[in-house]
Amino acid sequence: MLNTEYISALGVSDAEYNEIIAKAAEIIKSGSVVALPTETVYGLFADATSTEAVAKIFEAKGRPQDNPLIVHIADFQDIYKLSDEVPKEAEELAKKFWPGPFTMIVKSNGRVSKSVSAGLSTIAVRMPDSKIALDVIRASKLPLAAPSANISGFPSPTSAEHVRDDMTGRIEMIIDGGECRYGVESTVLSLTGDVPRILRPGAVTADAIKAVVGAVEIDESVLKPVGEGVVVSSPGMKYRHYSPKAQVIVLRGSLNSFVEYVERHQMEGDFALCFDGEEDLLPIRAVSFGAEKDSLMQAQRLYSALRQLDELGAERVFARCPSKEGVGLAVCNRLFRAAGFNVIDLK
Ligand code: AMP
Ligand code: MG
Repeated sequence: MLNTEYISALGVSDAEYNEIIAKAAEIIKSGSVVALPTETVYGLFADATSTEAVAKIFEAKGRPQDNPLIVHIADFQDIYKLSDEVPKEAEELAKKFWPGPFTMIVKSNGRVSKSVSAGLSTIAVRMPDSKIALDVIRASKLPLAAPSANISGFPSPTSAEHVRDDMTGRIEMIIDGGECRYGVESTVLSLTGDVPRILRPGAVTADAIKAVVGAVEIDESVLKPVGEGVVVSSPGMKYRHYSPKAQVIVLRGSLNSFVEYVERHQMEGDFALCFDGEEDLLPIRAVSFGAEKDSLMQAQRLYSALRQLDELGAERVFARCPSKEGVGLAVCNRLFRAAGFNVIDLK
């Protein structure tokens, strides 16, 4: 068990802030792990060039060894230190979306530890739009590997309290920087094929990417389970993911048909995950996660709502189905996975 230091960077003086950043960078340079906020979710940051440091991330999360990590940089030029084959679209995309919730996969030149890429010849790179993350990357002068700061398989953390629940005793330090702005992980775009391909949807949408590079494909695994024995382009898509302890069932259809279904099937321990304002119309207790028409809000609140349902003792959760337009595709992707693709179409 490690002694986890919990520090708030909220409302501190400039001098105190600089001390927090310097301390986090020292811990990272010494080969250990620090949790800190990004604009997507909280991440576990460690030196991507050190095999031992990267191993500590996998251990803290209980993450399967074949699920690669994203490398975080603070300056676009640093991508050339990680890859000798950066396609020209990468520069255009970075100009538009970096710093931001956007990850690009390019050919790796092998500079970072092999375990970061889980043995793949490619590497995922992102420049986060979070002052704390950018300051820690700059202060450590290293590319930093960072997955979400949750126990593998469970909902990602969007607040420092979530990280504390999952990571106390497992890492050296947690920096509290308040709630995450987007609440879902970055869009992952592969640039290693003929046409750019979205492997994981996020706040940067397919349309926004298309406007920069002309064409974009969306990987099949985004809204469908990966079949047995299929080689996946993004290994993270194989695993049970983002799931609370409760069983989640997504019911696709109108509010009326949702209410009817729940009335017919309800049992002790059932909860609903619904849109704002629907709570009082449902026959069971409910947690809401944003207005029906507001995908950005749903993204921001989804993981927190899933964690809250566990805290309330939910055994089974009937979830309203979000729209898959725009950022909604990311919300659907995470919720469908949380449900193990248990999605029922209502008449
Ligand atoms: P997380 O660390 O939780 O944000 O997850 C990172 C995601 O990026 C996972 O779905 C990984 O499978 C994916 N990823 C990272 N590196 C690569 C890569 N080189 N090729 C394909 N997918 C990747
Ligand atoms: Mg994750």
